[in-house]
Amino acid sequence: MIGILGGGQLARMMVLAAAPLGLKCHIYAPEGDNPAFDVAAAKTIAPYEDHAALERFARAVDVVTYEFENVPAKTAEILSSLVEVLPQPCALETTQDRLIEKSFIRDLGLAVPDFIAVDSPESLSKAVAQLGRPSVLKTRRFGYDGKGQVIIKSETNLDEAWAGIGKAPAILEQFIPFEREVSVIAARNALGDVVTYDVCENRHAHHILTETTLPARISAETEQGAKDAASRIGAALNYVGVFAVEFFVGVSGAQEFLLVNEIAPRVHNSGHWTIDGAETSQFEQHIRAISGWLLGSVKRLGRIEMRNLIGGDTDGWHDLVTEPGLHVHLYGKAESRPGRKMGHVTRVTI
Ligand code: AMP
Repeated sequence: MIGILGGGQLARMMVLAAAPLGLKCHIYAPEGDNPAFDVAAAKTIAPYEDHAALERFARAVDVVTYEFENVPAKTAEILSSLVEVLPQPCALETTQDRLIEKSFIRDLGLAVPDFIAVDSPESLSKAVAQLGRPSVLKTRRFGYDGKGQVIIKSETNLDEAWAGIGKAPAILEQFIPFEREVSVIAARNALGDVVTYDVCENRHAHHILTETTLPARISAETEQGAKDAASRIGAALNYVGVFAVEFFVGVSGAQEFLLVNEIAPRVHNSGHWTIDGAETSQFEQHIRAISGWLLGSVKRLGRIEMRNLIGGDTDGWHDLVTEPGLHVHLYGKAESRPGRKMGHVTRVTI
């Protein structure tokens, strides 16, 4: 029995991948619209701070994993005193805080955009003087899909920008005029075996992933460089499970270069294509890794186009399901809202 913290679409797809392997899942999530409940063998509805509920959950499962990186440190601590938590909570500590994360990546010798810690209006104004405009102000913690971010443009008032991120501890980051954004989905098991899927090219709108295509339009060296960077990150974290590394690809003269943007210590939206387009999906790979199994083949089955269905995009589902060759995934969420991920579609072209 695999325990999963979080009841969203990522947990749902983990449960669906565990079933053919003969493994069951118990979802732990607070009250709300939890599409993973529809498919799981067991569920606990309780806040992440409920000590007693966490203890009961830990005793009911063989291993605990999570679908989101903002698991409270206390929750991870309570659970890991009773049951194995994979990926290990130290991966959460590193990736929950952008300052720690970026320093960790830079210390591995991998390139990241220049960044400076900011914790007051004075330090923000000093950092802007150093990195110039445009630059990007990001909260250290609890940022995702562009939340907690402000671009400092030539006309941006710094006091307003500081207020705009809630005056929270932050980093100021150099603005990268990138050619494209790519990511690598990787898996590492307890034996230290690492596999990396082919590099995904990602497009975003309003900071939300809209489309992933493969192969990415990058050189063979850049492709290998991204995979190597992911392997090094996985080894340095002594990581067990699936993770994603997001990169900016820039061009300087005729030369492509890679900068790491961030690490997601979990299965990732840019890896959804692997369900229909790879020999082993990222979700199965994650279940295998945390269950102490060997990893599966990451072979890609063709050219890939994955498109997220966001908000009202699922209204046209009847047309989508009759489109030949289109793999349709609907998450079964109770309510559609603008910007909410409601499903995705994948096309694999041989
Ligand atoms: P993040 O939450 O850091 O992944 O940022 C969300 C999105 O904002 C990225 O996928 C980029 O499209 C954009 N972005 C973030 N940081 C930078 C940067 N330093 N330079 C340019 N664009 C950025």
